[in-house]
Amino acid sequence: APAETILAVNNIEVVYDHVILVLKGVSLEVPRGGIVALLGANGAGKTTTLKAISNLLRAERGDVTKGSIEFAGERVDRLSPNELVRRGCIQVLEGRHCFGHLTIEENLLTGAFTRRDGNAAIRRDLERIYETFPRLRQRRSSMAGYTSGGEQQMCAIGRAMMSKPRMILLDEPSMGLAPQIVEEIFEILRDLNAREGVSFLLAEQNTHMALRYATYGYILETGRVVMDGPAASLRENEDVKEFYLGVS
Ligand code: ATP
Repeated sequence: APAETILAVNNIEVVYDHVILVLKGVSLEVPRGGIVALLGANGAGKTTTLKAISNLLRAERGDVTKGSIEFAGERVDRLSPNELVRRGCIQVLEGRHCFGHLTIEENLLTGAFTRRDGNAAIRRDLERIYETFPRLRQRRSSMAGYTSGGEQQMCAIGRAMMSKPRMILLDEPSMGLAPQIVEEIFEILRDLNAREGVSFLLAEQNTHMALRYATYGYILETGRVVMDGPAASLRENEDVKEFYLGVS
């Protein structure tokens, strides 16, 4: 893949339980500094694609049986998830995984577990995260389980940021949240992209929002990419309008 590509997924196949073929040859690229949307209906294979990249399929009895994955110019298909985090690629799982019985601040600090650069640097980054997410600063001492859905999603993203990633794989950040909160979260993603240079691969069923913030999009249907293009042209595409944006 060219040097300006941070992530390249080349024709991967994923099988669950040795027999259920779920991804049937998916290819996609994320340019350095890009925000790329992975779109498609429930069950199309978005989560499976993200988990294949971050090597989280084993726990689900899934396996990448064909194809390859490159991150920052190197093959990463056989790495452990933690090693991939150390290299700068981290996934925020669907459903805002925070530790409910830890405070927001404790949750954020757990995100620094792969770092070896010491406490002062970690504290400095925590402060930067509070600047990006003022709501998290307000709630820093609250148990995460008692905060709102939007705050928990922010906490999950902030926690990922504590690993100093170059790229975040984000699974359905809008799920179950009110439109105004979704907007607030997408604005923060845009900000992290612009100020910190973080690249994003964003799995979303909310096509409308995703195509407003992404630079490029891929549409998955039953384990295959059926369409891809710059976000602006997908927004104007008649099929996308009819099937994914609910206008015709
Ligand atoms: P969602 O919006 O639900 O996250 P998705 O596009 O992310 O949808 P996946 O979760 O990747 O889709 O699921 C793709 C297909 O793989 C679905 O048909 C699903 O039933 C199947 N699948 C997912 N996980 C497993 C598993 N552990 N074992 C068997 N089949 C699975």
